[in-house]
Amino acid sequence: MSEFKALPLLESIIDRVSQKGYKKLTPVQKECIPAIIDGKDLLGIAQTGTGKTAAFSLPIINKFGRNTLEGKAKSTRSLILTPTRELASQIMQNIDDYSTGLGLKTKVVYGGVGRQGQVDAIALGLDILVATPGRLLDLIETGDIDFKALEVFVLDEADTMLDMGFFKDVQNIISKLPKSRQTLLFSATMPTEIERLADAILNEPTKIQISPETVTIDLINQSVYHLEKSNKVPLLFHILENPDFKKVIIFCKTKFGADIIVKELESQSITASSLHSGKTQAVREEALQNFKDSNLRVLVATDVAARGIDVDNISLIVNYNLPEDPRNYIHRIGRTARAGKTGMAISFAVENDIRQLRIIENNIGQAIPVVTEQPFHKEFSPPKPVKKKVKKPTKSNKPKKSKKRR
Ligand code: AMP
Repeated sequence: MSEFKALPLLESIIDRVSQKGYKKLTPVQKECIPAIIDGKDLLGIAQTGTGKTAAFSLPIINKFGRNTLEGKAKSTRSLILTPTRELASQIMQNIDDYSTGLGLKTKVVYGGVGRQGQVDAIALGLDILVATPGRLLDLIETGDIDFKALEVFVLDEADTMLDMGFFKDVQNIISKLPKSRQTLLFSATMPTEIERLADAILNEPTKIQISPETVTIDLINQSVYHLEKSNKVPLLFHILENPDFKKVIIFCKTKFGADIIVKELESQSITASSLHSGKTQAVREEALQNFKDSNLRVLVATDVAARGIDVDNISLIVNYNLPEDPRNYIHRIGRTARAGKTGMAISFAVENDIRQLRIIENNIGQAIPVVTEQPFHKEFSPPKPVKKKVKKPTKSNKPKKSKKRR
């Protein structure tokens, strides 16, 4: 069974996914959707880009689309908790899209924007609430939401919650939910804390695992360019001369660095915008929307902002700086080659980066080919052989003559 039609989903949902151009179920959808429809708890080890948003949201839409109750005031029938505002608004966009015409009451809440609109929407009672932890806790504390009507809880990107320091908030929120509910937990990796949490909150879950490495190795053409630091900007211009690179994301280390790269690109009439935590939510959303609509060719992002970028048809990822956390390499390059498409990822490496590059290669289990046919290629000196220091004998380390026993 690999077609949406074969699933017990409402006609209108099947129409919507086919209008979006989805032809076949992705592996994560194939395994998750039937289990969720059956009411099972679920542990999904899968990252973004695998189609997991539809995997958990279609069965939820289906459940409430079949059974539209008058919502309980100040409560919601399902809660999807996700770490960043970008992810939250993207999940909400997808859900609103898939559920068009079903009359579901949905709302997304996150910080950094006014709360009154959020309070008013929840007051009427919701079918689906998508939230980030901080704002949700705030709404719980002020008594603007409770969970007496909750039936389904989704914890999305649990490991990112941990990395971003939201774990206590998440535990606090879970403690407020009714015990009797369906719980779906998604995480790209399974650190011990998440394993423990899964044991505590899931009831005989169906487990599915979609390995991110497979995605990386099969569909992304990866390469590394060795160069001097001062040649990074000229190399970038050289690469962007290729008109096939229509949608490009450049990852760099700092917010300041991202803004400088944008200025450099603009000086060459390349449309670009930066995406990082130093920008307001409204500015970030506008940049992302312009990028999606192809009004911007390049997005320059830091790792923090990278979490929520779900844009189709990204042709190239450039690692202007290598990620400090080697796990972020897969995360970054996974922005391209989404949902079965192919993509390209180029990493810049200066001589000092070689150690970090080896760590990344170890992490993904393969060597990344070096492109030498490029105008700024730099041969790095081979690593010096480690000379063994031979200590001259001194009084203290001179081997003592063993005394002969008589
Ligand atoms: P996600 O893993 O939820 O971030 O989804 C990644 C991307 O895949 C999104 O842009 C979805 O619109 C797209 N997508 C989800 N399911 C399918 C499918 N069955 N076929 C094609 N694209 C899909």
